[in-house]
Amino acid sequence: MLPREEELRALICEVGRRVYARGYVASNDGNISVRLDDHHLLATPKSVSKGFMTPDMMVVTDMQGRKVSGHRDASTELKMHLAVYEMRPDVRAVVHAHPPLSTGFAVAGVPLNKSSLAEIIFSLGSVPIAEYATPSTQELPDAVKKYITAHDGLLLANHGALTAGQDLMNAYYKMETMEHFAQITLVARQLGGENLISRQEVDRLQGLRDFYGIKSPAPICTDPALAGSDGATCQFVDAPSSDGPRIVPPAGPGPGPARGAGPGGGDGGEIRLTYRELAALIADAVRQVTRDV
Ligand SMILES: [Zn+2]
Repeated sequence: MLPREEELRALICEVGRRVYARGYVASNDGNISVRLDDHHLLATPKSVSKGFMTPDMMVVTDMQGRKVSGHRDASTELKMHLAVYEMRPDVRAVVHAHPPLSTGFAVAGVPLNKSSLAEIIFSLGSVPIAEYATPSTQELPDAVKKYITAHDGLLLANHGALTAGQDLMNAYYKMETMEHFAQITLVARQLGGENLISRQEVDRLQGLRDFYGIKSPAPICTDPALAGSDGATCQFVDAPSSDGPRIVPPAGPGPGPARGAGPGGGDGGEIRLTYRELAALIADAVRQVTRDV
């Protein structure tokens, strides 16, 4: 049964509080929307802090963004949400915010598309950058349309981030996941760079994603040409053909996973796991991801 309008109004307020409390927006930034039914959206009003909204402030619009009811007006950025709903009938909620780490990547022009975390490969796949467009103009929804066909999370160049989900909490959690990914990526780069998961392992993770039925708008691909720049049909994940060099040299034999079985206790930095250890790691990652999907 679909949640009733009252519940959705209250839930938008809750998501707004979380977005604001976590510093994903400042002042009156950001906007949140959810499908009420096939023809209507419930959206946050403009010029209000997302941390201090009440259920009566919400605006009901049609799928062209025209106001149907409400004392306030929807944000002009609602155009971006409308573009998502138009391209993705499966999406029921959209969150747009300016989380500082993700937005930092968007400002630097660095997409979040490396094969560094198994959980991200399971969930978001990759996060591309939609080209810069002046906020509130039609250019911005057009840039979003290009990539949203294959992605649930986008960076908006020199602006912020956007996530889409099967319900409000799902869209919000994807924003959390993206920001967490950005934070981990930044720390890894400060420490000398990521050790990327190999292409072979990315393919295996993709297989597990399919096996567990984790909802994703498009498959992962490792060839950027396949991801295309217009109407993307897959999620480009940058993965090396073999494991990259590791920062921490392997220790000699000891407790835990067998390490560096080669001569001198090192084998090109390889860490070997038993099948049982690997299965436990994957099961744990799947549990983490499926918890919120
Ligand atoms: Zn914005």
